[in-house]
Amino acid sequence: MKLGVIGLGHVGLVTAVCFAEKGFEVIGMDKDKKRIQDLRNKKLPFYEPGLGELLEKNFNRLKLTDSIKEIVENVDVVFLCVGTPPLSDGSVDLSQVEDATREIAKILNRYILIVEKSTVPVKTAEWIKRVMSLYVRENIHFEVASNPEFLREGSAIRDFLKPDRIVVGIESDRAKKIFEEIYKDFEAPIIFTDIETAEIIKHASNAFLATKISFINMIADLCEKTGADILKVAEGMGLDKRIGREFLNAGIGYGGSCFPKDVKAFYRIGEELGLDFNLLKCTDKINEERIDKFIEKIKRVLWIIKDKTFGVWGLSFKPGTDDVREAPSLKIVRKIIEEGGTCRVYDPYAMDNFKRDFGENEKIYYAKDIYDASRNAHAILILTEWEEFKRAEFSKIKEMMETPIIVDGRNCLDREKICKLGFIYIPTGRKGCGY
Ligand code: NAD
Repeated sequence: MKLGVIGLGHVGLVTAVCFAEKGFEVIGMDKDKKRIQDLRNKKLPFYEPGLGELLEKNFNRLKLTDSIKEIVENVDVVFLCVGTPPLSDGSVDLSQVEDATREIAKILNRYILIVEKSTVPVKTAEWIKRVMSLYVRENIHFEVASNPEFLREGSAIRDFLKPDRIVVGIESDRAKKIFEEIYKDFEAPIIFTDIETAEIIKHASNAFLATKISFINMIADLCEKTGADILKVAEGMGLDKRIGREFLNAGIGYGGSCFPKDVKAFYRIGEELGLDFNLLKCTDKINEERIDKFIEKIKRVLWIIKDKTFGVWGLSFKPGTDDVREAPSLKIVRKIIEEGGTCRVYDPYAMDNFKRDFGENEKIYYAKDIYDASRNAHAILILTEWEEFKRAEFSKIKEMMETPIIVDGRNCLDREKICKLGFIYIPTGRKGCGY
């Protein structure tokens, strides 16, 4: 069986490379010609641990093309992995899905199974079927299925190859058999269901995880008011198997290309269907407020931001990726600059993407490392919990700073060690020192 993947972004490229790793002949297609050219030269369009090595290893089983014709004429199953970005009203822009579907339909001359892997609102498969029927030649049989992807950037390879579960929404035995064949070497439970259920499982999972993060952030605020410790609260809650410790890390909130857009989209779906999804509005609101709360913390010690210099450690929305889409760093740096401050920013992988998304600004200095970022800083702001930040030489850093303040938006430093060195340390949801 030959597999096709349309859209070679974070999800599509990992999908294509991992299916090749499982022994399938795969054709990966993207309409971005430069991306295809770079990939043919084994140059990755983004940072993902282990992906370069796996691409190299399976290069002979992976064909890369920018031609829709080449993929449609040569595969039995095609995975749609195109982007589904948010529109300004919170709903999902499905134009990339429609575009790819239309292109497939126009060329199709034999049976194909079209699989939604992108995260899409419930009932999107119905639209894919309608678009196919509009453009496809008569008497050509096709099917649509849903197989949402749950991988996380930073651990995408492991998540894809060893998933907790595989969700498949299908409408026929033929489609079921195809998926049984595709996933026969995966050691994970497969949930076969109807398409709407599969579509909802993905959105509901993301909305639930985002809500868990906003919930713990709400509790972190309570801890700050009462002197309790959010790390212990999270540990105490997380040991309960019904709750679990994951996604209970308080801080500056979730970002990335999934949670912010999926929460808003799910809320909109509820609204369109006349359902009250206000819980998700609160999830979103709590998350948005994390930025102002973080800025307030800076002001609590420095009073005025104007004319101050900030060493910004971490720009990606989480460690293990160079992705800055919806990253809190974009909003925090923008606020500081609006108030007249200067930022010396550093991230081990995300500098270029940040520069591209933020745009040129004379108030931003792109530092060589965390030491360069900390020079003459009035405060260090930790926005991503990269491992290397924990291992910094903090006595050296203290010497370089104008005032030794660290505002830890990710609770990633060893509080006792930092406080002993004489820093003013402001973590999230727990006591710090020096203020
Ligand atoms: P992305 O924006 O990084 O990549 C999308 C790719 O599709 C781009 O390379 C683009 O050029 C290509 N494309 C767009 N239209 C095309 C067309 N008509 N033909 C061929 N190529 C086309 O997106 P992503 O982060 O990989 O996410 C893809 C989907 O997967 C989204 O729905 C997202 O919500 C979902 N998802 C993402 C993640 C994640 O961690 N990034 C995890 C799970 C699910």
